[in-house]
Amino acid sequence: MPAVEGKYWTALDNGFVRCELCPRHCTMPPGGTGFCLVRKNVDGKLITTIYSEITSGAYDPVEKKPLYHFYPGSVIFSIGTNGCNLDCKSCQNWEISRRITLREVFTPEMAVEYAGRYGSIGIAYTYNDPIVWFEYVLDTAKLMKEAGYVNVMVTNGNIELEPLRELLPFIDAFNVDLKGMDRDYYLKFSSMPNPNVWQVCEEIKKVGKHLELTKLIVPGFDEFTPEYFERFGKWISENLGKEVPIHYSRFFPAYKLSNTPPTPVEVLDMAYDVTREYLYYVYVGNVVEPERESTYCPKCGALLVRRVGYNVEVLFGEDGRCPQCGRRVDFVF
Ligand SMILES: [Zn+2]
Repeated sequence: MPAVEGKYWTALDNGFVRCELCPRHCTMPPGGTGFCLVRKNVDGKLITTIYSEITSGAYDPVEKKPLYHFYPGSVIFSIGTNGCNLDCKSCQNWEISRRITLREVFTPEMAVEYAGRYGSIGIAYTYNDPIVWFEYVLDTAKLMKEAGYVNVMVTNGNIELEPLRELLPFIDAFNVDLKGMDRDYYLKFSSMPNPNVWQVCEEIKKVGKHLELTKLIVPGFDEFTPEYFERFGKWISENLGKEVPIHYSRFFPAYKLSNTPPTPVEVLDMAYDVTREYLYYVYVGNVVEPERESTYCPKCGALLVRRVGYNVEVLFGEDGRCPQCGRRVDFVF
């Protein structure tokens, strides 16, 4: 593809450029690339090297993103490319996110065409982090909205607020992978010195977009105490809302943590129990526990959605109300 100029950067002296898309603010000498590997200084201009190029595409259950409260039981066309602004120690997708690989041309027009097949509701920008794919995601998302489809971002959520605000009108739902509750965690686990994910989550909720959170529980990085998980529940409840779902995910050995054992299942159960004191919807992932993957009415406890893996049974009707007590359900559908 011909080089496409990136957005959100400043020209500095001596041909250097500074990227201002994510809070990392990489300074690049002529010919240099940012931490994300895919934004490059070419002749004193910031270029995106991945515009209209993907590493893979697949039709996935929306529950796999994971999004449990957004068109439950539907399929969404999912695409990704190379690059990420974090370097998480247990990255499942490091082969594409922290390496440059072969990519196929896939224009925004092609994306819209594929998005309409096999009953897909739209596109999920996922696999690597779509933040570093900003220009392509923005252009594609606009076309998708015109064609009547939805856009979903699965992201670590560390993006400057100005570019976020440019994207927000076109994105319907986010799954934000919340690594931790403080800067120190991001530095140790993700090599990110200046995260702003908490502000980004607040902004997403402020404009009324659908938000779900994922928290991977990692031995050696997360404390296995009730007080520790209370922090997540309290912060989400006070700053985002009790209706924001959190998915606690079981860690399995990967990438730089290939010798760390999986998270004990009892820890996931404890995190689930503690957080449910604060939030309406808590789930566990990467573990088979149907009762903790299903959705219950926060008012009367009725089962609203039964999930066993990616098998989804919606038990409320078109009226969007709990069949037992009539409370309006917190679902987008
Ligand atoms: Zn109810």
